[in-house]
Amino acid sequence: MIAERAKRVKPSPTLQMNAKAKELKAKGVDVLSFSVGEPDFDTPEHIKEAAIRALKDGKTKYTPVDGIPELKEAIAAKLKRDNGLDYTGDEIIVSCGAKHSLYNIAQAILSPGDEVIIPSPYWVSYPAQVLLNDGEPVIVETTEEEGFVLNPESLKERITPKTKAVILNYPSNPTGLTYTVDALTTIAEIALRHNLYIISDEIYEKLLYDGLKHTSIASLSKEVKERTLLVNGLSKAYSMTGWRIGYTAGPKDVIKAMTKIQSQSTSNPTSIAQWAAVEALNGPQDFLQEMLTEFDARRRILVDGLNALDGISCRMPTGAFYAFPNVKGVFGKKAGEREIKDSSSLTMYLLEEAKVAAVPGIAFGAEGYIRISYATSRENIKEGLKRIGEALARLR
Ligand SMILES: *Cc1c(COP(=O)(O)O)cnc(C)c1O
Repeated sequence: MIAERAKRVKPSPTLQMNAKAKELKAKGVDVLSFSVGEPDFDTPEHIKEAAIRALKDGKTKYTPVDGIPELKEAIAAKLKRDNGLDYTGDEIIVSCGAKHSLYNIAQAILSPGDEVIIPSPYWVSYPAQVLLNDGEPVIVETTEEEGFVLNPESLKERITPKTKAVILNYPSNPTGLTYTVDALTTIAEIALRHNLYIISDEIYEKLLYDGLKHTSIASLSKEVKERTLLVNGLSKAYSMTGWRIGYTAGPKDVIKAMTKIQSQSTSNPTSIAQWAAVEALNGPQDFLQEMLTEFDARRRILVDGLNALDGISCRMPTGAFYAFPNVKGVFGKKAGEREIKDSSSLTMYLLEEAKVAAVPGIAFGAEGYIRISYATSRENIKEGLKRIGEALARLR
């Protein structure tokens, strides 16, 4: 018999959609995948070289559970340089990807029945991770009109004596939008007043357009920093998704509990990947600008193309590599017997009829939208837009 805990969660819908697209591709179907959640660039050469060096130098053994000191120093230096934050070694833990960091946080802070406020649209793993750790996800809807930013009044209304934390993700997956310093300040004040932890997922920090600058909520004040669990990682900024390096910076007692948990589960993240991460953080950063310039160009092609389609409207995203168009305008339309009722039936129609894979908004707790990733070539984006346009034009 399988445990109740395992029954409480479903497999990641984004990974599922991706798997389905891959399956069709393997059968020889020419599917264009816009469901991917990772940059399509290769890991920069100097980072790979660092891993090869580490391998040759025999850095192939267990490391300290919370990461090699060299990496923790590189992370502390990064947090200082980019975010103006001071963290000591015992306020940082390296884990096997930011997803693992978030999981360890849930393990460390949640007791049965504790509530965690999660604004929707949310990253798919937040509610699942809370459920897997005996907590209760409390989903608070945000609106497109407000830029999908958590409304302070809605937040206040949902706080109870059991509320333990609020999760923020900015720039956001799936919306591609981010929070202003004002919005962060208001939320931080509420969190402090109610003694909540702020779990701040800043994995897309480096992917901001239009000259926007990222501000970590932890940098607002000493008091806010003491309640913030800042999560970041190497996956998105350095195109290192497969290497599995993420980290948390936060108060010593939480980091200590996370380290204890990690010591009894995964132990240290892969030694070689940690050395590569040292190089990523300390080495040349010019790769970032190149990646950003390319993403920016694709963003415009995609969003302009989407807005030209009947029944679709899309805000210009300012970060990450996702567009989150409103598709309510095509609901109720039909292709023969087939009706587009919701985001799931639309993405299924697009997959089968346009050979284009996207993720339904409902996977992120937001019906009426779909997520389209532009971590794919300009050619693919243009071809995908053409195919979506043709498939939508067949609807009546
Ligand atoms: C990709 C992603 C992560 C996890 O990244 P890792 O590969 O586990 O470091 C965390 N949060 C969001 C919002 C993401 O999109």
